[in-house]
Amino acid sequence: MLLSRELKNNLFNVFTRKIGIDLGTCNSLVFVPGKGVVMEEPSVVAVSIVENRILAVGLEAKDMIGRTPETIKVYCPIRDGVIAEYKMTEVMIRRFIKKTLGYFKFLKPEIVVGVPAGITSTERRAVIEAGTLAGARAVYLTKEPVLAAIGAGIPINSCSGNMIVDIGGGTSEVAVISLGGVVTFESLRVAGDKIDIAIADYIKKKYKLAVGSQTAEEIKKKIGTAIPEKEEEKMEVRGRDLITGLPKNITVGSNEIVEAMAETLEEIIKTIRQVLRDTPPELSADIIDKGMVVSGGGALLKGIDVLISQNTGVPCFIADNPLVCVAKGTGMVLENIDYYKRSIMIKK
Ligand code: ADP
Ligand code: MG
Repeated sequence: MLLSRELKNNLFNVFTRKIGIDLGTCNSLVFVPGKGVVMEEPSVVAVSIVENRILAVGLEAKDMIGRTPETIKVYCPIRDGVIAEYKMTEVMIRRFIKKTLGYFKFLKPEIVVGVPAGITSTERRAVIEAGTLAGARAVYLTKEPVLAAIGAGIPINSCSGNMIVDIGGGTSEVAVISLGGVVTFESLRVAGDKIDIAIADYIKKKYKLAVGSQTAEEIKKKIGTAIPEKEEEKMEVRGRDLITGLPKNITVGSNEIVEAMAETLEEIIKTIRQVLRDTPPELSADIIDKGMVVSGGGALLKGIDVLISQNTGVPCFIADNPLVCVAKGTGMVLENIDYYKRSIMIKK
């Protein structure tokens, strides 16, 4: 009896495709149980306005940012952690499903989509509709911080408090989770993108040099650090001199980037402190014992764990593979969908 049920399940699995999608403001990831992350693309869509046609999705579209003629429009549909462009979100989900299913595109998959915890009910319906129109048989939504926690290996269903800080591109989400539910939560529209802007602004002010957002991001990833270093790293940066209007190179040091990012990072830390303050005392005690876990691309910023723990008094750990935590979480939910259906799925 047991065996036959297992067999039935296995057969069923062959014919139902399960796809997990992390719709990030910067990067979207697709996860297939048993396979892992099968796709990782920037959340960008490029459209030809004249022909009303999708030109590119993902990396190819991102490379067009800042370089397009008037006839091409580049969308970042999940800007600032909200679904800013419904139609383009649907285009992206459709592309992900199609690419993932390949030859099996006639199969209607079940999908789990990670959405920002602060998403409105209208936005929720829009994502469900986008997924359905894109060919999904069932669309389940789960809050990103919960998925990030699951993906980071935190036992979210235990009755002890767990804190997760996800620093993405458009939003930083801070949540305390206990018994599978979000107990306290704050979402801040300050994260990686705002850090890039702060770096560009700093260089503009100090060196009268205009640099693009892509360059600022490169500086952050290459030499950025949250706390000052004794042995500073240097990097040559190319931009446009604001006085002469001509291209010019300068050299910046990592400690200058500490200064450039300080105010923006302080905003994120303020939010973490706020969540700690709003957390019931029993759960705070757990968190002080175990520390918080940081996920998302922002967790890769050098020294961010030290800066956070110095400023909150709570130990801080970087998740393994912070960029894929949410995607991995969608996979784990898909594998145990009946178990999670009752607890963490967002109801329409
Ligand atoms: P989202 O979930 O919003 O799409 P991600 O978790 O993918 O965001 O993180 C993207 C952000 O992480 C971007 O702002 C990117 O610049 C930043 N990031 C990626 N790698 C690094 C790094 N090594 N150092 C600092 N920031 C990084
Ligand atoms: Mg994310």
